[in-house]
Amino acid sequence: MHNRNCPECGVESDEWADIKKCSVCGHSELRMLSLRVESDKIITFGRLKTIANNAWIKPHLGEDYKFWDKNYQMIFEPSEGEWKLKANDAALNATLIDGKKLVGEVILTNGMKIAVGKEATDDMPEIIKSPMQVILE
Ligand SMILES: [Zn+2]
Repeated sequence: MHNRNCPECGVESDEWADIKKCSVCGHSELRMLSLRVESDKIITFGRLKTIANNAWIKPHLGEDYKFWDKNYQMIFEPSEGEWKLKANDAALNATLIDGKKLVGEVILTNGMKIAVGKEATDDMPEIIKSPMQVILE
């Protein structure tokens, strides 16, 4: 059974059940998500679901934004107190997690490396664009 009650104030809500954030007292078990990009810039999400496409990443990157999908490349989504990352399987370039192509979704952990590009194959070395490091705090 899912716990539907905030441990802080005890109020039962769909919001607590879904994203582990209480709109009554403000208590949250979801950590704040940021990404560190190569230039050492930090992209801060706070606790909001973010659909990331090339227009979204452009201000944070150099030319590497071109490798991101126009529609969406990946989605950052709070779910049951964790951050999930979903890849767009139809994107031209893969979303890579620690160098491996992400299929479907993954729960983000501190220090994980996200990039866009191609996984290494027998004939080709990996292609890593826009490497970013996950920061959860
Ligand atoms: Zn509460």
